[in-house]
Amino acid sequence: MMNMNAPGLYIHIPFCLRKCPYCDFYSVTTLTRLTAFLEALGAEMALYCGEFAPFDTVYIGGGTPSLLAPQQLATILDRVRENFPLLPDTEITLETNPADLDHASLTAIRGMGVNRLTIGCQSFDQALLTFLGRRHSATQAGDAIATARCAGFTNIGVDLIYGIPGQGIAQWLDALRRCLAYQPEHLSCYQLTVEEGTPLGNSYRHKAFSLPNEDLALEFFMQTAELLKGAGYVHYEVSNFARGMAFASRHNQKYWDHTPYLGLGPGAHSFATNRRWWNYRSVDRYLAALGAGERPVAATESLTNEQLQLEALYLGMRTKQGIHLQDYALRYHVDLLAQKKDRLSALQKEGLITIEDGRLHPTRAGLAVADSLALL
Ligand code: SF4
Repeated sequence: MMNMNAPGLYIHIPFCLRKCPYCDFYSVTTLTRLTAFLEALGAEMALYCGEFAPFDTVYIGGGTPSLLAPQQLATILDRVRENFPLLPDTEITLETNPADLDHASLTAIRGMGVNRLTIGCQSFDQALLTFLGRRHSATQAGDAIATARCAGFTNIGVDLIYGIPGQGIAQWLDALRRCLAYQPEHLSCYQLTVEEGTPLGNSYRHKAFSLPNEDLALEFFMQTAELLKGAGYVHYEVSNFARGMAFASRHNQKYWDHTPYLGLGPGAHSFATNRRWWNYRSVDRYLAALGAGERPVAATESLTNEQLQLEALYLGMRTKQGIHLQDYALRYHVDLLAQKKDRLSALQKEGLITIEDGRLHPTRAGLAVADSLALL
């Protein structure tokens, strides 16, 4: 049973076998400190023991959690259960790379209580996977989904990237259809973004390739949404689709509605009440802090009511369920309908939002420009 107010637990595994050139998540490619990290992670859990209400989600992300041996993953989950109460039917998600998955490892992962798998397929086209620097092949991408199904997973999410240089819309939609043949319960479709400071960002600066212009990017977005709607998926967040809300990521929804979450591991962020804090984005500093018996917190910030309400607006307008106006008023002391009357009616006329059942919802066209809606 989902409890939207129960907090979520995130665990960041900061290791990858190699860096994808577009990625700016924190991870290192040497595994020499893996054993020390696993010990430190257990110590970090102990430092938060008793502080949070029972969790109803555990999300092991990274980095590449699937490069850990099943026994190491099982130990992490044992430590979680020793240190924190979990509600019955807790959603336990593991992020995986298709190259790491075989029937034996998936069966072991399912057996330890992981009940939701996300598979970072990214593309089903070998040339595009090579451009993205992925370490798995197009064949492995499909095989991983099929094998996960055979191993007993009934909640599988697939991550895909579109708008890759050289990829036309027809080619993308074809890849999407190939993915749909496996009937994943969840799809995350992200437009390729170029982050400064990454190898891809540097090539882009030197004009080694170009990205879709605004019109083409919009076309990718709208056609993706249309195809997935036709296939029975709910478009519940800008980039996320589920075969019914029962398969929407329970964990990620906590990030979007100010539910508390605890993040463990290097670079992980946490949030509770009006406070956000984040860990050192360095395995060495993380290990050093925990070695000294301290929480590895790099910085903390307290958000004002105004910051919280703007953030809630920004995050809410990225979701299909939008903003519940009465809850918003109670929580942030702002009557949006009264305060933004003219702007809201202009957005309604432009077909970007609707107001019904006491909620402000973005339309599909609104979701396409969700970040600008937050500036209303
Ligand atoms: S595997 Fe994932 S986390 Fe690791 S470098 Fe590639 S995109 Fe980043």
